[in-house]
Parts: sequence; structure tokens; C-alpha cells
Amino acid sequence: MCPTSRYLGIASGGSFSDWLSAVFLLETSYEGDKMTIVLWSVVFLAGVGFFAYQMTGRLKILFAARRDDGRDYSPKTWGKRIKNTLVYGFGQGKFFRDEQPAGMLHIAVFWGFCVLSLQVITMFTRGWFPSFVIPGLGGDALGGAYALLKDIFQTAVVVGILVLLSRWWIFKPERLFGFLPAEARMRKHSHLEAYLILLFILGIMLSGFVYDGARMVTMASVPDVMAESAWQPVSYWFSTLFAGNVEAAEWGAQAAWWMHNIIILMFLNLLPRSKHFHIITAIPNVFMGKVEARGHLPKRDFTVENPLFGRSTVNQFSFKQVMDMYSCTECGRCASVCPATATHKPLAPRQMLLDMRDALYASQPVWLQKIAVNGAPEFETMVGEGKPVLDDVVWSCVQCRACEEACPVNIEYVDKIVDMRQHLVQEASRFPAELNRTFKGLETQSNPWGISREERDAWAEGLEIPRIQDNPNVEYLYYVGCGGAFDSNNRRSTQSFAKILKKAGVSFAILGKEELCNGETARRLGNEYLFQTLAEALVALLNQYSIKKILVNCPHCFNTLAKEYPDFGGKWEITRAGDLVNQLVARGKVPMEGKFDKKVVYHDSCNYGRFNGVYDEPRDILQKVPGVRFEEITQSREKGTCCGAGGGRMWLEEAKDQRVNMLRADQALEKKPDVIATSCPYCKIMLGSAINEKGENEKVQVMDVMEIVASQIT
Ligand code: SF4
Ligand code: SF4
Repeated sequence: MCPTSRYLGIASGGSFSDWLSAVFLLETSYEGDKMTIVLWSVVFLAGVGFFAYQMTGRLKILFAARRDDGRDYSPKTWGKRIKNTLVYGFGQGKFFRDEQPAGMLHIAVFWGFCVLSLQVITMFTRGWFPSFVIPGLGGDALGGAYALLKDIFQTAVVVGILVLLSRWWIFKPERLFGFLPAEARMRKHSHLEAYLILLFILGIMLSGFVYDGARMVTMASVPDVMAESAWQPVSYWFSTLFAGNVEAAEWGAQAAWWMHNIIILMFLNLLPRSKHFHIITAIPNVFMGKVEARGHLPKRDFTVENPLFGRSTVNQFSFKQVMDMYSCTECGRCASVCPATATHKPLAPRQMLLDMRDALYASQPVWLQKIAVNGAPEFETMVGEGKPVLDDVVWSCVQCRACEEACPVNIEYVDKIVDMRQHLVQEASRFPAELNRTFKGLETQSNPWGISREERDAWAEGLEIPRIQDNPNVEYLYYVGCGGAFDSNNRRSTQSFAKILKKAGVSFAILGKEELCNGETARRLGNEYLFQTLAEALVALLNQYSIKKILVNCPHCFNTLAKEYPDFGGKWEITRAGDLVNQLVARGKVPMEGKFDKKVVYHDSCNYGRFNGVYDEPRDILQKVPGVRFEEITQSREKGTCCGAGGGRMWLEEAKDQRVNMLRADQALEKKPDVIATSCPYCKIMLGSAINEKGENEKVQVMDVMEIVASQIT
């Protein structure tokens, strides 16, 4: 009988008493004894028991978190969720993109761990059944293939860990140690945990090699073991260290086995207390990630009893938000792309999340006590002066989603920032003074400038633009939006788009003075109540007319009307100006006669780009304009930097040396363009102002894509 069958008597048809005797009367190939079984059982139970105790605390907090995040987790979303989990979780999708070689090394370590998890099961079980092999992975063909795979991945993990250790010890990149000034606290950490974890993993891999190598010496007469050896060149090399000395190999195998298993148990117990908790939580976190449109903010229901006006205490955050706190790997990919961090504001997304996580962990004992006595937990706000998250941190965010795009475990920031802004505006009434004017303008004149609502259609004067009131049967309503209607520079973009529509014979009309703001600015600034008031008014206005299709030339209007208004009963077909014009140009409806002999770069707006995946459309149009010499800004498409106006920051003061628009203008100017093209009124304002400030306005123009097209038609 083969050793496995002997020790697994019950599996080969033996009785329970056969199994017991197999367990307690073991013979081992290297003198395994009852003492080993007893000791290992004690160590195993202590390790797993303490891990279960720690996990219970974390899970109780997680399941006590609120579920009112306005997300759809129903089974109909599971198809997308499973796809995301396969691509970004198991597939490690985001690690292939940037930050190499660290990304590829992480992939090697992750997949190595998946393959080696079978080895862990084997090594643990051998504490009771010394010759245990996972059925099918013995000395047969499958076992050989697995042995080879294991050897390859174990080697890859060792190489990966050595390179990662060198990054911590020698190269010390800012991304690991923290970006200044926002991550000053992170820089002060000892980072001992990172070294410890890497050394643990190295120890697990090396002890695995020594164990396998020693086993080749001690079990040289067992055909199954020797059959496997042929597939494990690296383990075989470790076997040569024993130079055929069976006694030394027996000791080596015992020592390596204990070392391997004890390190695994220590590692397991470090997980819930460290950033490596992500090993457990990252996959479920990806599964629970946003499947709604990426720029969509959930509707806050103020009609329920005790409505939530914002989130600022640990127990107000949602299940997914707590999962985010548990899942951060502290890799710093988010902070490395954050324009607020890059312009030396107090916000770095990683630091903010870690500060929130620390506050959550610090509150755990009190919270668990409250859960135990079924008491209502009351916690202090974590936002404010002297609190984990400063007000300025919350206001610094431009809600560009660059951090979310970069995060390998799909942690979400924008919703948290908006939740905390809602707390500041709607509960604490604490917000930057300049926002008083913005909110007042929205309330009284339905635009954030506070310009008289009578001016809303001033751009159309003398252009014979039809009004919906007189032309109710047009195909499209052109919803202009505040940026295109009130800003003098952007009025040129609006007039250009109208010119193209007329040239192509598109049936359209505008609301004129009757048009209202859609409230996007208020929502992004945390004034959800004002947003909802504006949204309800606009939906009611639009529903007075039998409108089916709405045209927009502003990504903020597009995201709000197309992705958020359905929650308020606004269900029209929203068409982007770029989408329509691209089709019209392709169909020859917009003949362009001139030659736009200029070098043009395109600045991606976050609302079209990262929010809605619209990247090709404006580029397609520009390439169709005769004479355009198009070039990409290095930081473009998914990696584009915000212009600085997003998240309502258009209406907030910015210190002179911290301006995001200056950073973005520098990136664009690297390509020495004649024109910086945009598709967003706010981007145009911000970049135009930066180009002026840099004194480049004589050489470089900032133009809406529609202006470029319109300049070439007669
Ligand atoms: S959304 Fe943009 S500004 Fe806000 S934290 Fe993320 S990267 Fe930074
Ligand atoms: S939030 Fe994501 S990207 Fe940022 S440090 Fe954590 S894991 Fe890395």
C-alpha cells in the first residue's frame, strides 16, 4: 500500500477506528512521532484560533456598517461583478499597466501565492499525515506538472521579494515612503511591517525549498517522491546541499517544515492588523466595487425617518467604505497620480484613507462593546481641526477619479469625499466662505456665478436660434448649461456648436432664458439638498415639453443628466456634442473648407474621460479637421490630469503655488502646441487662465473642439 493510502485509511475504505489509529500511530519517513502531532495540533489551534478571534472583531464592525450607499448589489449586477473580480482581482489587471517592475513583481507574488496555497494545505496536513499528498497531485503526470509550476512560482516569488526588499532598503521610492507634504505622517512610520511581511514570505519560500529538497534525500526510495523530484529543478538543487547525508536531511526537513508552518501562522495573524489584510479583503472588495456608471453619485433620501445628511463618524460609513479601509495595500498608486498631492495640498488619498482606517480601528473596542449590549454607538466626527481628516483635505479634492483608476484593488474615493462634504455643508455648516456666493447664485439665479438669469441666452443674440417654446417638435433640445451660457469666453464655443448644427441642418431648439442649472456644482460641493431642489425643478421644466433627445456640449451636464438624473425621473436620450458632430462630419454634413495648420493637443476632461470612457470621439473629430497636426500630451486619456475645476473646485480659491491648472498647462506645453483643445467649458476657463498667467497666450490658444470645427466652415 502506498504511504498516502496507509495514512488515509478512511479514504481507502478503512473504518473510523482505522483512521484514528492512522492518526495516532503514525510511522513517518523521517521519524515523525506523537509528540510532533500533539505539538503541531497545539500550535495550529492557537494560530488559527487567534486569527479567528481577530477576524471576528473586524467582521463584526464590518457587518455593523451601514448599507445605505444607494448601490445596487442585487444578483442582476453579479455578471459585471464577477467579470471585474476576474479581471482586476484574480487577473491583477491594473498591475500590468504602470509602475513597473513593481506591478509585474506583485503579479508574480500573487499568482505564486495562489499556486503555493496547495503547498500550504499539504504542509499543514502533513503535521498529522506525514505522507499526505493532495489527491491527483502525487507522482502522476498532474503531480509532476504541479511540482514544476510550484518550483517556477516559488522561484519567481523569491526573486520578486528580493527586488521588492531592495526597493524598500536601497531605492526608497517616494511612492512607498510617502509624498510630501500631504503624507508627512506616513513618512514618519517605521515601515517595519513591510520589511517583516517581505521577510516572512521569503522565509516561507526558502523553507519550502529546503523541505522539498530534504525530502528528496530522505525519501529517495519512494517512487512517487522521486517522480516529483524530476519536475522540481530548484528544489533538487536544495537537495544537493545535504550531500546525501540522510540524517542531516531528516533534521533539515523537520526544521524547514516547522519554520514554514509557523511563519504561515504568524503571517496569518499579522493580516488583520496590517496593510496585508488586503490579501483577505481585496477580492471581495473588487467584487463589491461600483458597477453603476463610474461618475454616478447616489441619491440621498431625505424623506426617510432620521435621514443621513452626510458621513463623518466611523459608524456612518457604509459596508463598502469600511471594506475599502480594510483593503488598502498602501501602495501609493493613488497618491502618485493625485493632482491635489502633486500641487502640495493637504490631501493625499492614501493618507486620508489610512487616517480614516486608524480611526476605525481605534474605535473598535468601544464599538464592539456597544454591539454586545445592543447599544446605539455614538462616535465623534472624524472630520475637522485636530481630527483624522482636516476640512482642507476634504475641500482639496477635484473629484477627478485618477486615484480610483490607479487603485489596483478598486478603492473608491469620490463618494467618500462627497459624503464628508455633505457633512460639512449640511450638518456642520462649515465650508469655505467663497461658497456662500456660489450657493446663493445657484439658489437665486440658477447659476453658480450668480449672474442674472436674464443673461442666460445672451450668447444667442442675433443668431436666430429657435426656442423650444415656439418649436416643440424639434428633434433635439440643446441644453447649454451654465458654463456655455454665462462665461464670455465659452459663449464662443456655444455659438460655434450652434453654427455647426445649423450648417448640418440639425433640427434643434434651446430653452433660452427658461433654462435652469442642473445642480452638478452644488452636488459635488456637498450641498445635496440644493442639488435635489435644482434637479427636481429642471426635470419638471423639461417634462413640460415632449422632449426625447437632449444635446449637451459640457461633460458635467452630460454626466449629471445622463447618469444621475434617471434617479430623479429624468429619462431622456442625452447626446454629446462630440458624438453628434463626429457622425455629421463623417457623413459629409459639415464640409470643412479651410486649413487649420496648427499643432493641436487635446486635454481630456475627467467627466468625459475617466467618468464615462469618452476618449476617442474628440480625437476623431480633430483628426478630421484639415491641416491639424495632432499630438498626445504625455499624461492623457485614463492618465490625464484634471484642469483643477472638478468637484466644484472651480469656485474655490487656490493658493498661487498650488494651482492644478498650472500643473496641467505645463504638461500640455511640453508638446509645444499652437492650440490646446478641450471639450469642457470649465477646462477651457482653467487652462486659458493658466496660459495667460504663464504669458503664453500670444503663442498658444485654448479652444473648444467645436470652435476648431466651426472655424473651418463657412
Ligand atoms: S479624485 Fe482626484 S483629487 Fe480627489 S483624491 Fe482622487 S486623485 Fe486626488
Ligand atoms: S487606495 Fe489603492 S492605490 Fe491607494 S494606496 Fe491604497 S491600494 Fe494603493
